[in-house]
Amino acid sequence: ARKFIVGGNWKCNGSIAQTKELVGILNASSLASDTEVVISPPSLYLQSVASSIRPDVAVSSQDCWTGNGAHTGETSADMLKDMGVQWTIVGHSERRQKGETDELCAKKAAYAISKGLKVMACIGETREEREAGKTMEVVVRQMAAYKKHLDSSKAFDAFVVAYEPVWAIGTGLVATPEEAQQVHKGLRDWVANNISSDVAAKLRIMYGGSVTAASAPSLASQPDIDGFLVGGASLKPEFVSIVNAQG
Ligand code: 13P
Repeated sequence: ARKFIVGGNWKCNGSIAQTKELVGILNASSLASDTEVVISPPSLYLQSVASSIRPDVAVSSQDCWTGNGAHTGETSADMLKDMGVQWTIVGHSERRQKGETDELCAKKAAYAISKGLKVMACIGETREEREAGKTMEVVVRQMAAYKKHLDSSKAFDAFVVAYEPVWAIGTGLVATPEEAQQVHKGLRDWVANNISSDVAAKLRIMYGGSVTAASAPSLASQPDIDGFLVGGASLKPEFVSIVNAQG
């Protein structure tokens, strides 16, 4: 069985005080032990969060760069690993909207895994693409780029997909359980046919986009939804209820 995973993407939010408050809430809460929990604070706060968060909650970067060098403003996967960070998000639509291509997102994923990080790799269609009936075409194109760079199936052990329809992010328009399940199932079938049935069976596919404590349980009950990547609600105590949404 695939272990349920819930990530909290804090995006570009928080302060020293708010970060301490959120860590305090998580440290004091009872979290389902059969759910993997990963929080993703802004990179400036990674170190303080990593050193104060309970050991059963992992810490993730929101992005990474493919190596040290003349890349002003970037944070390399090498540095994240050096700092004891276990995970990174790549390919978030908010970064794709600033110009990141499928190719760059996939290179980041492969590089991060080669450095020993685990990756939450985001994919998802825009509202226009969904309305044009291109949802599967878009997410398969994004997945195919990851596949191209993650050559060995062993790399997929450190790889989790986050299906985040762009129209659902930060809009309050959560996908229905049926809408999300349909895409997750389509993705798993694509992985079975294009990578292997073994990888398809093991691959965790998270859903992201306006997940709340109210919407989480029915989404979590879908057979191909293996977790959530939570934005806005991860900055609130409500995140604990989302972590505990399964079962
Ligand atoms: P919201 O939960 O705020 O819609 O954001 C989802 C997201 O982008 C997580 O990466």
